[in-house]
Amino acid sequence: MIQNVSDVAQYLADERKAGELIERLRWSDGIKCPYCSHSKIYETKGPNLVRKQWKCGGCRKKFSVTTRSIFEGSHIKLGYWIYAIYKMCVSKKGVSAHQLHRELGITYKSAWFMCHRIRYAMTQPPLKDKLSGVVEVDETYIGPKKVRGKTGRGAGKKAIVVALIERDGRARTFKVPDVKARTLKALIGPNVAETAHIMTDSWRAYSGLAKRYAGHGVVNHSREYVRGIIHTNFAESYFSLLKRGLFGTFHHVSEKHLPRYLREFEHRWNMRHATDGERTVAAIRGAEGKRRGRSRLPGRRRGLQRKGCWLWERRPWSLWRPGRPAW
Ligand SMILES: [Zn+2]
Repeated sequence: MIQNVSDVAQYLADERKAGELIERLRWSDGIKCPYCSHSKIYETKGPNLVRKQWKCGGCRKKFSVTTRSIFEGSHIKLGYWIYAIYKMCVSKKGVSAHQLHRELGITYKSAWFMCHRIRYAMTQPPLKDKLSGVVEVDETYIGPKKVRGKTGRGAGKKAIVVALIERDGRARTFKVPDVKARTLKALIGPNVAETAHIMTDSWRAYSGLAKRYAGHGVVNHSREYVRGIIHTNFAESYFSLLKRGLFGTFHHVSEKHLPRYLREFEHRWNMRHATDGERTVAAIRGAEGKRRGRSRLPGRRRGLQRKGCWLWERRPWSLWRPGRPAW
């Protein structure tokens, strides 16, 4: 289906083919109405149709391949979307909106908008089962390296990201407000199975995990990095990739949008053993059902949303806080 850039090029050149690809991926077992899931549908014909359109026999509404997906309401060609998704899936450290703007000849604003919608499509569904086996837990600080002569944790205002990583398995990352024991334990609880062996550094907020979990290995980074199987090297390598992307490709990421960048890196990490094409197809499939929801917010924010600002989606991907569900 998609293996390399030459496959993507044919969709760039032919908008009809691009529509058919998304149609095949979206409805692999027959076209269904995106509003009511009815399978009795009719294709509508018209002289000025941009792309194929159908009418539902159940709810009588018209729809196209973009309805109720991240592509809905966008004037950007579907071929361009496929190219952007491909680029984001093959580049280990991400691709900047400026680069897409130059390559595709669209405005920077459109490219930025596309990138964020694609990140939303990359958001994975909630975990079916908790992380198990050996799970590494670590936290990192993202922000300026040096502010007014200060370096390290205390320099400037930094965002904190916690990673829960199964060795040779899945990863979940969260932006958290602090690294207090209450916050970290509230995060580990719903995401890690009690049969898991947890590996952390010697940060005191992690103490006491041995009581609840099958094992707790602690590595004291002031003295050592590895002691047998006790280390957090998978988490360190995840953070190094994330930071190379944030510093090297994006240069600056606002704290507000950081959770969506985390979803992008998670998607690539969790599908790292798949081919570039499989990662792209998975992201296109993820576009299904993810559209701007109706805001429950009053006034100006709803007005912004109506104008096309989609920052308030129905599913909150924003800041995770203890007490709230993680997704
Ligand atoms: Zn319907």
